[in-house]
Amino acid sequence: MTDLSSLTAADIRDGIAAKEFSAREVADAAFARVEALEPQVRAFNQLTPELAEKAANRIDAMVAAGEKLPPLAGVPAGIKDNMNLVGTRTTCSSRILADYQSAYDCTAVRRLLDAGALPVGKCNLDEFAFGSSTENSAFGPTRNPWDLERVPGGSSGGSAACVAAGMATVSLGSDTGGSIRQPGALTGTVAMKPTYGRVSRYGCVAFASSLDQIGPFTRSVRDSALVLNAIAGKDDMDATSVTQSVPDFTAGLDDGVKGLRVGIVRDMLELEGLAPEIKASVEAAAARFAALGAEVDDVDIPAARHGLSAYYIIGPAEASSNLARFDGIRYGHRVDDASDVLDLYMRSRAEGFGPESIRRIMLGTYVLSAGYYDAYYGQAQKARTLIIEDFAKAFESYDVLLTPTTPEVAFKIGEKSTDPLAMYLSDVFTIPLNLAGLPGVSMPCGFSRGLPVGLQLIGRHFDEATMLRAAAALEADLALDMTPATVRSLKA
Ligand code: GLN
Repeated sequence: MTDLSSLTAADIRDGIAAKEFSAREVADAAFARVEALEPQVRAFNQLTPELAEKAANRIDAMVAAGEKLPPLAGVPAGIKDNMNLVGTRTTCSSRILADYQSAYDCTAVRRLLDAGALPVGKCNLDEFAFGSSTENSAFGPTRNPWDLERVPGGSSGGSAACVAAGMATVSLGSDTGGSIRQPGALTGTVAMKPTYGRVSRYGCVAFASSLDQIGPFTRSVRDSALVLNAIAGKDDMDATSVTQSVPDFTAGLDDGVKGLRVGIVRDMLELEGLAPEIKASVEAAAARFAALGAEVDDVDIPAARHGLSAYYIIGPAEASSNLARFDGIRYGHRVDDASDVLDLYMRSRAEGFGPESIRRIMLGTYVLSAGYYDAYYGQAQKARTLIIEDFAKAFESYDVLLTPTTPEVAFKIGEKSTDPLAMYLSDVFTIPLNLAGLPGVSMPCGFSRGLPVGLQLIGRHFDEATMLRAAAALEADLALDMTPATVRSLKA
């Protein structure tokens, strides 16, 4: 019998449609994998076997009735625990929301489940998505299935780890400054941030509303396109979701890259602190594109070097405003012995928020304060405009841009947790895309010391299709085996 946990979403749906196996069997295989690996990996804050079983039964009833199956029928899915799903808690991995029950469904989650996916559970994250390692979770870190002593990246570390480990076939994460792509790189998964506005943010707890975007983790580029098909498109509940037509992102995936103009972002490759093996892997990937018929050349995005600084002003500014609602009254943990309302606010928040959340709220409040607004927030917005312009100029000559996803492979748990600046540097290549609203996908492009290396492909606004076509061509060419050590040991 085939190992159902290793199949792609497309294979699962087709196998169920052909009655090779049932959705129930797929769910059972996913939870068997959870039983074997979750005690070590700890990707989930909550498991949802009853919801998965209900969803699987619906699919199996459709098969029995001879109905046409939806595109993600029977596909086990992890959901980042900052997205609401009725019947689950939405904790954001924070003590302040530890008991919060979802009151409604996040649109992207609803669409994923309507497309037939089986919800396996809610995935661990850095508290409120602040972080790059999942160590900022109030419920403990998630571990990287490639090496359990290392981080899976973050903030969507649980979503990345569950897909890498085969506990889910696909998952949803959110990406404000790299939180899908960076953990994707560190766990050897395909991890996409769509164009800002492509996917509704409704029901995903806001971090920085002008930067946040939901997207998929998968084990293949085709699956990434399939999930995007399911979740993309206008939603009346999110005014920033756009009416732009949604193409079938799987169409043309196999058309290759002949004549495609691919730009290597050279000034990013020269950045100090980039591991030499990662630079070499990215250059090797670029050479493969050339061999496959693309026109490959160097391009610079000079303003991107201001990205990290601008992001650590704009991100915390928006976060400090978004997190004001967690005050013990409207939402969240409340002390029960407050002497007055101010005491209630202050102590509920001090007890509920972890150190990184407190740091972001303080940074954000500071840069928005009357005396500093222009010097910090105003300047950061100007830098953001320059970044948007540099990318627009590059896309006059190129169809897809390439950078590393991260400066390093997965680091050890604890290695950077006391040094916020070192941690922030993890996202130096991913953040400029959020500032510019551009789509990006991280895909495995090789290994360094046995750990996955990620390549970031960047597309034009709303041209995820071309970006994914390039990714699919490279994926087929490299044909890497992305089975992590924990999964190999299960099979041995
Ligand atoms: N790691 C970045 C941060 O800490 C990005 C987080 C994210 O994309 N949610 O802000």
